[in-house]
Amino acid sequence: MLVFDIKRYAINDGPGIRITIFMKGCPLSCVWCHNPEGISGQREKLYTKQKCLGCGACVDACPGHALRLTSEGVSSDVSLCTVCGKCADVCPSLAMEISGKEYTADELMKEIRKEILFMDCSEGGVTFCGGEPLMHPDFLLELLQRCGKEGIHRAVDTTLYARPELVRQVMEHTDLFLIDLKLMDSFWHKKYCGVPNELILSNLRMVADAGKEFIIRIPLIEGINTDEDNIRQSASFLASLPQHLKVVNLLPYHDIGKNKHEKLGSVYNPDQFPMSTPSENLQQKCVEIFHSYGINAKIGG
Ligand code: SF4
Ligand code: SF4
Repeated sequence: MLVFDIKRYAINDGPGIRITIFMKGCPLSCVWCHNPEGISGQREKLYTKQKCLGCGACVDACPGHALRLTSEGVSSDVSLCTVCGKCADVCPSLAMEISGKEYTADELMKEIRKEILFMDCSEGGVTFCGGEPLMHPDFLLELLQRCGKEGIHRAVDTTLYARPELVRQVMEHTDLFLIDLKLMDSFWHKKYCGVPNELILSNLRMVADAGKEFIIRIPLIEGINTDEDNIRQSASFLASLPQHLKVVNLLPYHDIGKNKHEKLGSVYNPDQFPMSTPSENLQQKCVEIFHSYGINAKIGG
């Protein structure tokens, strides 16, 4: 399984102190994505120009002659790069990095067990996220079952864009879902996230109907989803679900993904959709709309 990050002492990915495992690969491609290195299921090379010392060690180490030292830093010919990682191995300043490290289930369980002390004293646990963890069903189910047997609290951070049968299986071994809800209009959902949302909404209803605990996370992006229509439709949909919803976290937009796209050599928001952070007034208005539907919504989380 390719993992692109393991975050320890995480406090925003479910209750208590957690270890969060980021699995590579996602069926969505949201234009504002904070972790674009999680979208591709393949290993990727990242280059941070600001960290580069211009020493040329990576150029010499590259067996495919994919790199060239220029006055602007290191330029890369992606058609020659096999993502072997030799450039990252020799880079003294971590300007070159490889995103995606192969782990076995045993190796990941070992990483998870290292955090048991913190989990136990804080009622924390493990959170599987991505990318989209449900893109790796066998691996995810094995880890969930093994954590369950060891009494470790399990959260799954998911888009729910997956086969209902798989969501049902994952539900049996998950204590808490963290679910992203981006937009209620399927046409615009497809436009901004690459896929329509009907499957997501019906899976969300299924999770709620099954009595599972879940937290909803909505990115608040002015220009995309903070219009009153979308907020009211989101609130109305959530209010229609059985009440196992713990909280709705509204997460004001930041262009964190921009920097990561630069490192990947890809373009952030190529269609130049107008995206901005909503003002505090607008954020508060969104919170109030959710409250008016009886939903516990708050900024952040
Ligand atoms: S990952 Fe390998 S092939 Fe690609 S640039 Fe680095 S050394 Fe060259
Ligand atoms: S090895 Fe690292 S620091 Fe040296 S030129 Fe390559 S990217 Fe820059």
